[in-house]
Amino acid sequence: MAFEGLSEKLQNVMKKLSGRGKLSEADVKAAMREVRLALLEADVNYLVVKDFVKKVSERAVGGEVLSSLTPGQQVIKIVNEELTALMGKTQARINYASAPPTVIMLVGLQGAGKTTMAAKLGLNLKKQGKKPLIAACDVYRPAAIDQLKIVAEKAGVPVFEQGQGQPVKIAQGAKAECQRLLYDTLIIDTAGRLQIDQAMMDEVKAIRQAVGVHEVMLVLDAMTGQEAVNVASSFNEQVGVDSVILTKLDGDTRGGAALSLRAVTGKPIKFCGVGEKLEDFEPFYPDRMANRILGMGDMLSLIEQAQANFDEEQAIKMEKKLRTQQFDLEDFLEQFQQVRKMGGVADLIKKLPGGLANKVNADDVDERQMYRMEAIIRSMTPQERRQPEILGASRKKRIAAGSGCTVQQVNQLLKQFDGIKKMMKQFGGMGGKRRKFRGLP
Ligand code: GDP
Repeated sequence: MAFEGLSEKLQNVMKKLSGRGKLSEADVKAAMREVRLALLEADVNYLVVKDFVKKVSERAVGGEVLSSLTPGQQVIKIVNEELTALMGKTQARINYASAPPTVIMLVGLQGAGKTTMAAKLGLNLKKQGKKPLIAACDVYRPAAIDQLKIVAEKAGVPVFEQGQGQPVKIAQGAKAECQRLLYDTLIIDTAGRLQIDQAMMDEVKAIRQAVGVHEVMLVLDAMTGQEAVNVASSFNEQVGVDSVILTKLDGDTRGGAALSLRAVTGKPIKFCGVGEKLEDFEPFYPDRMANRILGMGDMLSLIEQAQANFDEEQAIKMEKKLRTQQFDLEDFLEQFQQVRKMGGVADLIKKLPGGLANKVNADDVDERQMYRMEAIIRSMTPQERRQPEILGASRKKRIAAGSGCTVQQVNQLLKQFDGIKKMMKQFGGMGGKRRKFRGLP
């Protein structure tokens, strides 16, 4: 997960500070030396580190902080605020055009994650009620168009393509298609090269001019650290970049790119990719990111993620089943899938605030156990799922063999399911009373 290494080091420094009733200037200086080292090891640009430590130190050794009742907490607060500021303070949104279609062009090196991001962005816009179209302008790799079509189809976003045609013409054609069929946002997927070269820069400039792009978004691989920052500077000088999307943040244990980009290039990071799946997409919130780095949790992202994947119809159906105690193993299975949609248990735990997240060690949560439970339920017949009470010894043996588990594990699952049902019985009763109460005049 993102920033693990940096997070651990900074949290250690913060822990030392928060445990102290009194702090001297020397204590703060010693802590800042450790912060500096942690940031440099995280591959944050050294000028950015220097400036960051200077700002925090100046604020932290001020009389009010050190003489306060909780000096350690105050220093942590300052570090949090400065980390947030470093990444841009508030979440930056898309610059929508006053008259549709808004044209967004994704640029970047090959492999940065542009194609995947075009589909992720399209899906996200769709969820917000927009009507996006993706233009396939990466014409040099025949496989690129097919790949785009596959991911876009999964996202349910249409693609405008003309095979190996001319990128400028395709972009123009796609814009005309938007006007004709009332798509309000055009996402242009452009070709990437392995290294920055003039032909690539000229091509994106030509597309930019020809279709009047509203926002050039540079897609960068966070795992490349300072190299990503260098790529951003070159693109910005040669083409002009409006904002940045950081991909592969899930694999970036250091965080150097995320922490240096804004300060070095002045461009906001608007979104990030946190995995290969379409749902692994998040708006980039500097404050929440700072909270996550310092182990203060990211409940807000967690809630949003839950909302984005929330299926109201299904929830109502489930609520009714729970209330009337018709919850069966089929529903149990559906709940597993819901958790999976939200990125899995381990990922959910990491977003809990430090205290909680530390209590539940993500590594202890055995996702394999969840897969095992799923496999067991899938090995049952529909009737068995609906009426687990019919499961006798021979059926259990068959299910165990079918799911590659032991009969003991099948029994364990049934026991857990029974426990949940019992719990639901209690809630069901409470729900009934509450409704009656609500029904009173
Ligand atoms: P493009 O050449 O810039 O269009 O890059 P692609 O979209 O083809 O992505 C390159 C590879 O990176 C693919 O294998 C993607 O699945 C993977 N990828 C893209 N975004 C992410 C991300 O946020 N996290 C991870 N782990 N992999 C990603």
